[in-house]
Amino acid sequence: MVRQVELVEKVRAYDPHVDEGLLNRAYIFSMKAHGSQKRANGDPYFSHPLEVAGILTDLKLDGDTIATALLHDVVEDTVATIDEIQDLFGPKVAELVDGVTKLSRIEIQTEAARQAENFRKLLLATSADIRVLLVKLADRLHNMRTLHFIERAEKRRRIARETLEIYAPLAERIGMRWLREELEDIAFRELEPEAQQTITSRLAYLRADAGDLVGTIVAELEGVLAQAGISASLSGREKQPYAIWRKMQMRHVPFEALSDVTAFRIIVGDVTQCYQALGVVHQRWPAVPGRFKDYISLPKRNGYRSLHTTVIGPRQMRVEIQIRTEQMHRVAELGVAAHWNYKGGNGRPVAAKESEQYRWLRDLLEILESASSPEEFLEHTKIAMYQDTVFAFTPKGALISLPRGATAVDFAYAVHTEVGNRAVGARVNGRLVPLRHQLSNGDQVEILIQDNQTPSPRWESFVVTAKARAAIRRFVRQRRVNEYAELGRTLLTRAFAREELELTDEILANAARALDVDGPTGVCALVGQGSRTEADVLRSAFPGIQLNGESKDGALGRPGDWSRSGAAGDGAIPIRGLTPGMAVHLSDCCHPLPGDRIVGLLTKGKGVMVHTIDCEALEAFADTPERWVDVAWTTDEESLGFFAGRLTLVVLNEAGTLAKIANIVAKHGGNISNLKMTDRDPDFFTMLVDVEVKDARHLSRIVSALRANRVVSTAERQRG
Ligand code: MN
Repeated sequence: MVRQVELVEKVRAYDPHVDEGLLNRAYIFSMKAHGSQKRANGDPYFSHPLEVAGILTDLKLDGDTIATALLHDVVEDTVATIDEIQDLFGPKVAELVDGVTKLSRIEIQTEAARQAENFRKLLLATSADIRVLLVKLADRLHNMRTLHFIERAEKRRRIARETLEIYAPLAERIGMRWLREELEDIAFRELEPEAQQTITSRLAYLRADAGDLVGTIVAELEGVLAQAGISASLSGREKQPYAIWRKMQMRHVPFEALSDVTAFRIIVGDVTQCYQALGVVHQRWPAVPGRFKDYISLPKRNGYRSLHTTVIGPRQMRVEIQIRTEQMHRVAELGVAAHWNYKGGNGRPVAAKESEQYRWLRDLLEILESASSPEEFLEHTKIAMYQDTVFAFTPKGALISLPRGATAVDFAYAVHTEVGNRAVGARVNGRLVPLRHQLSNGDQVEILIQDNQTPSPRWESFVVTAKARAAIRRFVRQRRVNEYAELGRTLLTRAFAREELELTDEILANAARALDVDGPTGVCALVGQGSRTEADVLRSAFPGIQLNGESKDGALGRPGDWSRSGAAGDGAIPIRGLTPGMAVHLSDCCHPLPGDRIVGLLTKGKGVMVHTIDCEALEAFADTPERWVDVAWTTDEESLGFFAGRLTLVVLNEAGTLAKIANIVAKHGGNISNLKMTDRDPDFFTMLVDVEVKDARHLSRIVSALRANRVVSTAERQRG
């Protein structure tokens, strides 16, 4: 175990200005916090953060990172809190520790193996500061180095798989090849011990037998290329056991045939020299048939270009050789992003934002390695990856990626259209939230559904995904047509009854042809939305008909006994089944509530506007009786939820008045949805208050309660 002094010395060696006090405090704090906790091998738990810190000193990371490494498990595994960390070590270290803690939690709740790529993205998005990611990778490396101490084989294998699928590729992408190789090596040993053994001992045998194969071949290649007058830079390496194994798996090669263990790269000046070098190599050693690939004339889909060949080299060993130009090499190493910097590239459009961002990370790490004062550099550097993406989990741990600003409704539709259509609420990290709630990275989202639920037209105003928007629109459009049709059918049935005719689908079908709409439903919808009158339909179904109720001007009048009493008579059209906002609209002027006496006005293109019987707006329609519709509330308004009633209040201008009003409303089961001050003088406020209530009586109770309070001068329901 590294001692305190040694650790500080190691950091001081590359960063003389490091805050030693910080490191010492973090060391002591972590040691005390972990106390008597033990690792799987019986060592004190504290040895783990200490080793992680040690790994990061090898990368020459700044004091904050080393302190974070020491503290990285205290919040998750001990009683220490992030607030304590903040108090003792400042906001920066607290932020980093918090970041690593979040990653650990995400790690626990994800079924990582099933969705490795998304998970890697999530890690990157969550580690807003690259140091968080580096601490996490060092943490994983040490856990892998001590993997064999874990007793349960199943647990070891799970960790090893996760490492291969998530962390090794992540290390590779940010340019830390050594880290990738070590992680792969340990995981491979755990998951395929026999294969690992066989390949390792075969490699050892070949080395013993052939000596420095790599050095020999490099020297030979240099010789033949120089003779041919080609200047090239060469590199060669023994392949890693895991890489060899993966290739064997892919090609279904048996172990006995294992001879393809070295790889060489020849980098030359231009494309012509690539083919020249290939010729030289093939002249010197026989090529293995079927192994030559020309990715220069036929690049891979990711933009990779190179010549690949395998030859039978010294001692009958197969030798894999890649030949490419410097530019092709950059593409191979950095991904498609390398094109970005090369204006003379192959001209393909590079939309690879992600690769570009990875590239940025690689550059950063390169700079880190050579920087004299890394902390200053890191201070101002944030990972800009996936900042426009939000990753959230289903309760089962599936990862859903959404654009930033996405809401619970977007999430529901991303899971499944049916989930979206039936959503009634959401629970985010265990807390109930409204469906419009915007999600954050790492949120666990449970969508509450109800079978008879349908999407609300209002959702369209806050969803951000095209899928959700399209589904909501489709649904709303369909339902609106259905509701118009339902309303229209009721209106038509009555009009026909007045003419002592029966409304049949056959008649409607005739009318549909005459009016050029789609079938009986189309005709009903036209009437329901006020685009055609019942008289239009009667006339098109029975040309030349003389209508009973026809008045001088040709409009079809309402029944003569229709009165303004507003009582829900037998003839009233029930609002049941019609959704406010669809074929029926509750007007904004008088805010009708269940229990109020109401009338409807058929409004072209909108269906029925519902007003209270005493609404002033009705005066304007006194001359158009054909537009009046007798409507009535049904008995199941409760199922429709809450309605907005509007009050005008005059209240005392003194401290605490608003709170008192809010209290009274809440105490009577109402909910203030909107509040607007309209007038304010030294003694009184006048304001408009929208209150969500069940019905008119509910609102009356609230009005009475308000009036009874000393601070309320007057309270009136607003009408028209
Ligand atoms: Mn750890």
